[in-house]
Amino acid sequence: MRALEGLLSICAYCKKIRDQDRQWVPIEEYREHVARTPLSRGICPDGYEAEVRPDLERLKRAARSRPGPAGG
Ligand SMILES: [Zn+2]
Repeated sequence: MRALEGLLSICAYCKKIRDQDRQWVPIEEYREHVARTPLSRGICPDGYEAEVRPDLERLKRAARSRPGPAGG
């Protein structure tokens, strides 16, 4: 069961690559490596704070004050 060992994750926000040591490194450092390695979608802590979290906050707020059915 080692199928996933060759997979890397790339951050959708800043394009960092998650190393097998669970370190997020710039894609430039992995450029040659990723060229032959399949990528899976992911997001690093930096990207999460900058992109995902604000989005979740907005969704939560929207869910709380969602417009009711045909008021009037
Ligand atoms: Zn990132």
